[in-house]
Amino acid sequence: MRTFQQVSAMRAYMRAVREDRRSVGFVPTMGALHEGHLSLIRRARGDCDVVVVSIFVNPSQFGPNEDFSRYPRDLSRDSRLTQEAGVDALFYPEVEEIYPPGFQTFVEAPQIAKRWEGEMRPGHFRGVATVCVKLFHIVQPDRAYFGMKDYQQLKVIERVVSDLNIPLTVVPCPTVREPDGLAMSSRNVYLDAASRSSSLTIHRALKRVEELHEQGELSASVLEKTMHDILRSDPAIQIDYAVIVDSETLEPVESLEKKGVALIAVRIGSTRLIDNLVLGGKLALPVKNHA
Ligand code: AMP
Repeated sequence: MRTFQQVSAMRAYMRAVREDRRSVGFVPTMGALHEGHLSLIRRARGDCDVVVVSIFVNPSQFGPNEDFSRYPRDLSRDSRLTQEAGVDALFYPEVEEIYPPGFQTFVEAPQIAKRWEGEMRPGHFRGVATVCVKLFHIVQPDRAYFGMKDYQQLKVIERVVSDLNIPLTVVPCPTVREPDGLAMSSRNVYLDAASRSSSLTIHRALKRVEELHEQGELSASVLEKTMHDILRSDPAIQIDYAVIVDSETLEPVESLEKKGVALIAVRIGSTRLIDNLVLGGKLALPVKNHA
């Protein structure tokens, strides 16, 4: 596996790859890799000739009171895992390489970024969109792999790629869960035993919504109330939002006539967790353990 910290070196490698007409799959991450990331990498490995992974904890997507400085970082472990997964090139730039002195151009996040995570984390998607566009320009992949775990992020990136005519295909990948249902996340390491146990309530709420939906319940308000009731039953949980929305626009719906998605964001102590479940349509993946 080749490793690069400089944009110029990464670009030179990619130029050589393109000259050989090899297809390129790209998996952008913030590191602290887990099975969720590895599932994206494996998918890319299966689809493409060359797989590039980036590890960059992007400061511009963190708010001033968020966990940028304490975000888990373990480059030697990540490097071993990517190597074992058959990654061809690992790009892990320093912050100054991506945001050198004088940097001042940002991508304005689209409308689909305004609600939910966008509202709870002002500036978050502007940072995500900016760094992804920069990474796409550096790597110039044919395909970029994103997890459905971060459903709104996936939709934002699809929009940005389409609106800015970036010549790549965004490939959505299903959420990978712990055996007990908790969606894998680098932030799960923040959870102490009690919070870890509370975190299962999120999965319980989503499973119940899935069950009711399968039994024919289409009313968004009934399904939302179900999620709120289950989440509120655990006093350790503070709800940021638990909503049923259109799976493409992410706007609230009254009834699930079309494909929808249940989006949940909660805080348990100082840890913020998000999860979701697609309801109906061909992306309706059952909540199950992919590990
Ligand atoms: P992150 O390192 O958290 O920025 O995530 C990098 C990529 O991995 C994003 O596309 C995430 O959506 C994806 N990802 C994170 N957790 C999971 C998971 N549990 N299952 C599938 N994809 C995930």
